[in-house]
Amino acid sequence: MAKRRMDPSEPVAVWSEKDVLGGRAVDALVVILRSSGCYWSKQSGCLMCGYNSVSLSSVSSGDIISQFSKAMEKYAGQPYIKIYNSGSFLDPREIPPEARESILAMAGEKAQHILVESRPEFVSPANLEPAMGHVKSLEVAMGLETADDGIRARCINKGFAFSDFERACGAAKDAGASIRTYLLLKPPYLTEGQAIADALGSIKAAGPMSQTISVNPMNVQRGTAVEALWKKNLYRPPWLWSLIEVLKEGRELTGARLVSAPSGGGSKRGVHNCGACDDSLLKAVETFSLTQDPKALECRACGCREKWLDYLEAEPFMGSAGDLERLSPPQ
Ligand code: SF4
Ligand SMILES: [Zn+2]
Repeated sequence: MAKRRMDPSEPVAVWSEKDVLGGRAVDALVVILRSSGCYWSKQSGCLMCGYNSVSLSSVSSGDIISQFSKAMEKYAGQPYIKIYNSGSFLDPREIPPEARESILAMAGEKAQHILVESRPEFVSPANLEPAMGHVKSLEVAMGLETADDGIRARCINKGFAFSDFERACGAAKDAGASIRTYLLLKPPYLTEGQAIADALGSIKAAGPMSQTISVNPMNVQRGTAVEALWKKNLYRPPWLWSLIEVLKEGRELTGARLVSAPSGGGSKRGVHNCGACDDSLLKAVETFSLTQDPKALECRACGCREKWLDYLEAEPFMGSAGDLERLSPPQ
């Protein structure tokens, strides 16, 4: 299939979605910018990350500003703007300072609250102070993935420690920014049960530093190490029952807002159950994320819940974190 030419002056995508601001459900404009790419993905890279497929090394500062101006043509009064660039908005190699300032000025003039993403190493007073000058309220989203340094190193190859995240949270707090922490539900090599325990431990550990925790179940992206494992049946994305469990139990463990917006939910590459109950469980996750009401997670039972419970029980004895259904198809 021919590769579609990427236009450096066009954003990757722009859409509007619901989120919560000041305890109220509001519309948020989501803008995905095309940058030159995450430095870590070029140097080593996280095992589940395929974002470099949307980056373009030739993109200039002017192109990025033009991308954002075009995205703002779709602005329709949303009080919240989320700016993603599949990497770190605060890394000057990805978003040069003049582009960063210009984008934040455009966004800050329109919306009350602006979200950007960054690895912790760029969340510093030097990068935050000029940014804060352009916006009324800034939220920095960081992909901690897990609070366990061993799992983050061995199963994700994230390239930073929990202490780096803690330092970055301190810098953001001092600058007056809030924190959204991303956790990865089910890194490779963990069984389903270990993944649930890891997510719950991480919610507890990251909670005191976060205003929002977003639980992101694995979505198998093309060209990644996780995809190679998945193709050999050595990895199964998490069950939706596991996500429901993490949100239900996690709600008790933190004062931070707990949310999840699974990409690829209900598909073979994303968080999924049997297919019959996936849509209703995904709707429950969406309602919970907006309301924080654990009652939203009380889902109608489906036959696959027993299968999931059997799966949790069988995995430790199988000595494998592989996809048990695909590794041993029914006789
Ligand atoms: S997950 Fe984030 S930090 Fe890791 S390689 Fe991808 S963009 Fe970079
Ligand atoms: Zn089901």
